[in-house]
Amino acid sequence: MVFRCFGSSSVDRRRNTVQAQQEVSENLLGSVKNFSYDELRKATNDFNFSNKIGRGGFGIVYKGILKNGMPVAVKVLSSESKQGSKEFLTEINTIANVKHPNLVELIGCYNQGMRRMLVYEYLENNSLDHALLGSKRTTNLEWGKRSAICIGTAKGLAYLHEELDPSIVHRDIKASNILLDKDFIPKIGDFGLAKLFPDTITHISTKVAGTTGYLAPEYMFGGQLTRKADVYSFGILILEVVSGRSNTRSNWGGLEKLLLEWAWELYEEERLIELVDNEMEDFPKNEVIRYMKVALFCTQAAANRRPLMSQVVEMLSRKIRLNEKELTAPGYFQYAGESSQSHKNGKLSDETSTSYQMSSAPFSITQVSPR
Ligand code: ATP
Repeated sequence: MVFRCFGSSSVDRRRNTVQAQQEVSENLLGSVKNFSYDELRKATNDFNFSNKIGRGGFGIVYKGILKNGMPVAVKVLSSESKQGSKEFLTEINTIANVKHPNLVELIGCYNQGMRRMLVYEYLENNSLDHALLGSKRTTNLEWGKRSAICIGTAKGLAYLHEELDPSIVHRDIKASNILLDKDFIPKIGDFGLAKLFPDTITHISTKVAGTTGYLAPEYMFGGQLTRKADVYSFGILILEVVSGRSNTRSNWGGLEKLLLEWAWELYEEERLIELVDNEMEDFPKNEVIRYMKVALFCTQAAANRRPLMSQVVEMLSRKIRLNEKELTAPGYFQYAGESSQSHKNGKLSDETSTSYQMSSAPFSITQVSPR
């Protein structure tokens, strides 16, 4: 219903989409539980600082315990941000009725005046970036858990892309949006930037939103959104999981490089194994190398060469030989300037994208030479 307007002018399209989005939201607000402010205030001990478990681009997340004893995560969306309100509607529109073992469950919401909150199932092991990356690292994940995180996330994405109608492009796949339950089963969260994507269209031209470092080049520079933009971000995520490093630029053998850039160089020199996290003591070498090669298939510069997520699930979970003759070079962009308001913390939102695109000078696209 929302997308019937794709053939019309961009102004009509925008007006119709917003209107339809609001109608859908009004219907869906009834399909998730509507909490009272008091219920959520009590659950979070008056939004106590000690209950704070995280902060995202659009608000603070608190741990809460509902009256029936159920632990929940309560995301309080910032009241000033217009983006916050759009996020809220998008999130509810997108996942209110979507259930899968690898997707975070939205339990309910609160929506009165300027105050908006989303209530999710609580995931005991926080997000993948806490568990795995940088100074936040809380645990040493062994290979069994890391591979299960990759496969579970791939299954969640395959479900969103290929089993729903209209399908969903998440647009913000990254380590902080992969939450881990008590057994480290991954669940994709944060659908605030997601787009519904009917089968009848090949791509959506959209303002760029997402997080730098994970954005596919054709989306970053051309605003061309397809499911393959998520596949690209997922490829970056695999490299992070295997290496225990984030895809931001860092020092590799004396040179500043992106993780993906470094992975491709090592691949060409048949030294991919050097990318593996030093903290991982025991791992099946061939399998780990296969995972990194799958990541390279996912991050190819040409979107149409990237596999579908269901194929990625196969490539990761079965010992199949990958046809490396088909593998072409990755595409990535490099950030070469000072950070500015419009891409603070690497986060791009629909709201900030115009100024970002117009001042895209600090970024340059790099396609490494073909093999
Ligand atoms: P951004 O909004 O910029 O994409 P983000 O993904 O980190 O950043 P949020 O989705 O608001 O932002 O989450 C902030 C943090 O709160 C997460 O990184 C995670 O640590 C914690 N968190 C979010 N949801 C849950 C949950 N359901 N269970 C446990 N912790 C959660």
